[in-house]
Amino acid sequence: MALSPMMQQYLDIKEQYKDCILFFRLGDFYEMFFDDAMTASRELELTLTGRNCGLEERAPMCGVPFHSCDPYIAKLVEKGYKVAICEQLEDPAEVKGLVKRDIVRIVTPGTVISQAMLKENENNYLASVFYSEESIGFAYCDVSTGEISASQFTDISSVETLVNELVKISAREVLIDEKGAAAIDTDKIRDMTGAYFEVLDEGHYSRPAALDGIMRQFRVKSLFGLGLDEESPAVYALGALLQYLRDTQKQEMGHMTVLNVYETGNHMSLDKATIRNLEITETLYDKQLRGSLLGVLDKTGTAMGSRKMKQWLREPLNDAETIKDRLDAVEYLSDEILLRNDLRASLRQIYDFERLAGRVACGNANGKDMIALRNSCAILPDIKTALSGSGVTLIDRLAGSIHELTEVKDKIESAICEDPPFIIKEGGIIKEGYSKDLDDLKFSIKDAKRWIAELEDKEKERTGIKNLKVGFNKVFGYYIDVTKSNLDMVPDDYIRKQTLTNSERYITPELKEQEGIVLNAETRINKLEYELFTEVRGFAASYIEKIQETSRSIAELDVLASYAEVSVRNGYVKPEITTGDRIVIEKGRHPVIEQMMNDGIFVSNDTYMDREDCSMLLITGPNMAGKSTYMRQTALIVLMAQTGCFVPAEKAEIGIVDRIFTRIGASDNLSQGQSTFFVEMSELAYILNSATEKSLVILDEIGRGTSTYDGLSIAWAVVDHLCRAAGRIRTLFATHYHELTVLEKKVKGLQNLNVTVAEANGQVVFLHKIAEGSASQSYGIEVARLAGVPEALLDAASEKLADLENSSKEEVFAAGESGKTARKDAVDNKNITKNDNNEAGGKEEQISFLSFAPDPVVERLKALDLMELTPSEAFKILEELKKTADEL
Ligand code: ADP
Ligand code: MG
Repeated sequence: MALSPMMQQYLDIKEQYKDCILFFRLGDFYEMFFDDAMTASRELELTLTGRNCGLEERAPMCGVPFHSCDPYIAKLVEKGYKVAICEQLEDPAEVKGLVKRDIVRIVTPGTVISQAMLKENENNYLASVFYSEESIGFAYCDVSTGEISASQFTDISSVETLVNELVKISAREVLIDEKGAAAIDTDKIRDMTGAYFEVLDEGHYSRPAALDGIMRQFRVKSLFGLGLDEESPAVYALGALLQYLRDTQKQEMGHMTVLNVYETGNHMSLDKATIRNLEITETLYDKQLRGSLLGVLDKTGTAMGSRKMKQWLREPLNDAETIKDRLDAVEYLSDEILLRNDLRASLRQIYDFERLAGRVACGNANGKDMIALRNSCAILPDIKTALSGSGVTLIDRLAGSIHELTEVKDKIESAICEDPPFIIKEGGIIKEGYSKDLDDLKFSIKDAKRWIAELEDKEKERTGIKNLKVGFNKVFGYYIDVTKSNLDMVPDDYIRKQTLTNSERYITPELKEQEGIVLNAETRINKLEYELFTEVRGFAASYIEKIQETSRSIAELDVLASYAEVSVRNGYVKPEITTGDRIVIEKGRHPVIEQMMNDGIFVSNDTYMDREDCSMLLITGPNMAGKSTYMRQTALIVLMAQTGCFVPAEKAEIGIVDRIFTRIGASDNLSQGQSTFFVEMSELAYILNSATEKSLVILDEIGRGTSTYDGLSIAWAVVDHLCRAAGRIRTLFATHYHELTVLEKKVKGLQNLNVTVAEANGQVVFLHKIAEGSASQSYGIEVARLAGVPEALLDAASEKLADLENSSKEEVFAAGESGKTARKDAVDNKNITKNDNNEAGGKEEQISFLSFAPDPVVERLKALDLMELTPSEAFKILEELKKTADEL
């Protein structure tokens, strides 16, 4: 037995696309066979059937209708599969035997373009990584919008930078070379970003091919003009990216016209933890927009504006002039109320220009897309006029790069019907009067069409059959339908064509003749309409660069207008941006919490920081007092200012920050599987290694994930590092270790703050007001009372607390105050030293806080390597330890 020819064709194609699920077009269905069918039937809950394939056993098969395949493809891609679409390249009606078929597109998570698979307010990024020991080349693009960027990371923390970039763009799919895949923990990145990794073999990283591909794509003769260094590893990443697009999309990416070469240093860099902790684009726990900063600020009118705002919030600026330009634009739009209202109303009428442009350029746009493009173009002149002559640098520049696109609008208007169908090959798209040939063709069948239209009435009258019907179907063409009860009245000239349960269907020679005229012409009409349509689409595509420039400007204007709107509504002020190191905020508020408060009002607070006297604000206060809120609000205000937005305060001066780091204590972050203390410490290490003199660091109760003394020691060492070793980095540090507050007079730059509470009738009242000095008590027990813990238990706790406080004060601080001798510290033998040159005396003072006699159990534990132990060895050691401990 031999395989049927079609099955052979299937297997030949499948052979080339082993890693994809093959959607094999058979008439009105995409069919899947063999393993693909098993996978798809499981993942998509399709019924598994079989098909004769020439062999003894039938081939497992399942299928989906071609006209509603999108949701199925989306589901598979969502689960990380790649789907190869195999089409019939010939009309089965026109060829004898096997129809030619081939793959027309491969859909992967990073390359989806169908509207059904894209989220309107989110970019869908495909990233590409080329790894070498010294540096990493990076590139990414959004196929739906045509945005494409490249960069390289060369510093020691380049892997961290890479991870941060992948998180920042929420990459959906990452292409990576074999070396990179081996060197980088791709599983961890996948856990964090949900990105799918595609490891490409060496063949994808040839220099000449990369250079050639890049020059071809951007139509340049050398990379110099693109701002890309030929030696840069980015060349490999970009080359592989473009190659992958060609392999999967099987067509030119005509809309990727502008390469954005960027350096990570050009923006404030936000690491993955900070983007999450500050809840910039979604909330920490349930990943909702509501409750995030974006949720408060996004009042944009267009999808591309909304995507742009997300981008801006994830990459704030760090150049004073550019920030000021944005702020000036926001100020102008805030003041000009009427202009802003008109502008926002206009913006709301603009479709997703960017993605429309992408579909136009790639030849995927249908008639409805063209009408949307025309409607959007129609708004542009108004916007341009409204913005002209503002005298504001950025507004003028944006208005200047909006093109009116009158030619595109006029062309579409003259050619395309107002309400065209989704399908572009079945006519009904082109307006009357656009093409004489088309109009002539349509005219030529007017008579025949009318004749058919009138046939039903005519025949009813002639035959006397009241319920006679004229109908049409694809197989038999036009027919006359007569129900069984009336068969005796059928005239002689009717020819029987088809028998149904309740009726018979007939034709007449005359009907067939008229039908011939109509169908023949209609085929030609549809073909001509299709040609005319693609011509119009091609015309629009030739304006692609202008359309894209316009859509970029519209997106930015939309963000600025939204910033202005929110600033006015929520009472924000324009911050002053400086290159100094002061952060001064008067009556600052938390932008999100103040919006979410149902009852009560948000208590505003001041912030003052600089790198001289107030580089570290050490914040104490009971649980629920507002420590975390205060720190986040400061970070968010800095961030908002640097994206060009006004800020929730009465006055603000922001000395530009190059990076914001956050570390939120362990118990606030339990969702991840890893040992929380380990996570906490690795993030802390990252911060301490990466923070610069221009950074802002937020530390929220670090050290909470371990024992008190360990935690305190670490916190202590961190204060030392940030205040002294690293050169007084601006830090907000909330801590439950009251012991740290004694450092205020001893470590330069450290200032104690506390969040005030009042007591009324033994109850705690949170005032949420920040005050200088340290908190007197932790109020933990009072908070427990508020939460409903039984009174008797609380009394016992109070007693115990008093005991502990008395003893620990003596123990822990006996050394701290006299502090002349260096003692073994819990961390790195490092003592917290304060170099008090400014004050009289200038003599060096040592501050140490704990003296441990080495504990044999601890020492033994430290020396263990858990990876090397079998469970029974571990148990044995445990037994010994227990014995030692008992003897102590
Ligand atoms: P802490 O970190 O000190 O435990 P949080 O910052 O988490 O406290 O604040 C606890 C709650 O107190 C917040 O969820 C918020 O509802 C309220 N809160 C905090 N700061 C303020 C403020 N300035 N004004 C009004 N309510 C506040
Ligand atoms: Mg807190």
